[in-house]
Amino acid sequence: MEPLDRSTIWPYEGGEPGPVYYQRYGHPTGLAAERAVGELEGGETLLFPSGSGAITTLVLALLDPGQTIALAEGAYYGTAVLFRALEKWGVRHVEFDQTGPPPAGADLVWLEAPSNPFLTMPDLEAAAAHPARVVVDSTAATPVYLRPLEHGADFALHSATKYLGGHSDVLLGAVVCRSADDAGRLREFRGRSGIVAAPDPCWLLLRSLRTLRVRMERHTATAQDLAEKLRAHPAVETVRYAGFGGLLSFDVADADAARKVETSVRLIANATSLGGTESLLESRSRWEGDRVPPGLLRLSVGLEDPDELWADLEQALARAR
Ligand code: PLP
Repeated sequence: MEPLDRSTIWPYEGGEPGPVYYQRYGHPTGLAAERAVGELEGGETLLFPSGSGAITTLVLALLDPGQTIALAEGAYYGTAVLFRALEKWGVRHVEFDQTGPPPAGADLVWLEAPSNPFLTMPDLEAAAAHPARVVVDSTAATPVYLRPLEHGADFALHSATKYLGGHSDVLLGAVVCRSADDAGRLREFRGRSGIVAAPDPCWLLLRSLRTLRVRMERHTATAQDLAEKLRAHPAVETVRYAGFGGLLSFDVADADAARKVETSVRLIANATSLGGTESLLESRSRWEGDRVPPGLLRLSVGLEDPDELWADLEQALARAR
């Protein structure tokens, strides 16, 4: 394993700074983790202390006041909330249906593959034909199922807190860049702003990437099984699933029914987030209000026994009727 190096300084070599000299500008564990993600995604990678830190850096480093982001509607709620917070620096955003072409005039196109919690997939070809740079938040797909740069995207972005980290013990973000120029601009802004990932989470990420493929295959197999069973269940109105990965959402009759289901699960934890080894379920209206149907439940399918997961969902759904 890559050793974990927590140094903040390294001596100059022959009187000059070497590849690492001060932790804010780079450290060996982070460089190793960036190389590993870069190999999986096929681009130059920078790590950040969270997915939100990655999003903030990308917007502040690449956009000027007065510019507009076209954001996929139904994408991760926190992304729109963050974009609203950045409005006072003059960066605007408009939402659009990512299954079609982005609006003309946008300066940055922001897609999510698949969207959380609506599970739509973007039209990557239509986005690539747009003159603006394209970001794909590929958190839920992971490079096991999608490599956005191969589809014309300029950046793939991850909340590595989710599947890449995979064990609910790491908060990290990643941006993978098509162009060395863009990577350079982001690196410069990251070093100046100090939005940097510490060595410990980078080391945990390196550990986690070793099992990424096998975890994703298991998440997918179980999620496919559960999606099919949920579709046939009389208390379930709609199931949204992209066909791969571990994230899905489904609707029960109303907010009361959703509350009963989320508080009745026993094996599945009633908690936020996604992408870990343990299954998580939550009603999203508590965070997103009427942006989501009141009965929408988001399920992050973990690595537990699929029959035990279904038995837990069945007994919880029985209480919603
Ligand atoms: N992007 C997506 C799709 C997410 O689901 C999340 C978090 O839930 C984020 C970005 C933000 O990542 P973080 O929580 O690591 O800041």
